[in-house]
Amino acid sequence: MKITNKQCEYCNNEFKAKRTDAKFCSGACRQGAYLERIDNYYNNRNNENHNEAIRREVLFAESEKRKENQIAQIKRNKQDQEAKMQEKIDGFKNVMNEAIENIKLMATKRIVDDANKLLKECLTQLLEFEQQDETPLYKVNWLCERITGFTNDRYYTTLPSDYKHFGFIENVLVPKMVKWYQGLKYSRERRVNVVLSDELKAKFTDVLSEID
Ligand SMILES: [Zn+2]
Repeated sequence: MKITNKQCEYCNNEFKAKRTDAKFCSGACRQGAYLERIDNYYNNRNNENHNEAIRREVLFAESEKRKENQIAQIKRNKQDQEAKMQEKIDGFKNVMNEAIENIKLMATKRIVDDANKLLKECLTQLLEFEQQDETPLYKVNWLCERITGFTNDRYYTTLPSDYKHFGFIENVLVPKMVKWYQGLKYSRERRVNVVLSDELKAKFTDVLSEID
């Protein structure tokens, strides 16, 4: 029997081995190595399970993160769409507001133009009337109604407050025409001869040229 010096695989002490395949110095070390192997086996298995659990946690966290990103992206897309829609609505509103302002302006301008046209007609008649030596009462009546009617007309209430001929119509033309008409009516005169002052005549002529 050949005895060789060996190192125990469990306690690392040297021992004299009777067999060439001996690994341990004693039965206790063999038992210790066996228990250690079992222990390692379970430790490894636990570690593997633990690693697997961690790996799954990581995968789960990654998939949750992906979901969150997808939801965030959907939210961003929705917000973008809403913002674009709002932009469209705002643009449309601006266009509509501008159109309405233009329509208002045109309507007002047309009313002023119509009012000026009517005023010019009345003043022309008045000047013609003034230039005749004798004018029938019905013509005075008609002209008076035309001019006083002008101020009660729909134009009167819808005209802008800064309408440039208002002062002239209200303060000069209407009082003058009413006075003429009342005077003629109660005199039972059938033919009249109205004399306008040079000052008033100049005023009428100025207004006529302004209306042009
Ligand atoms: Zn040993």
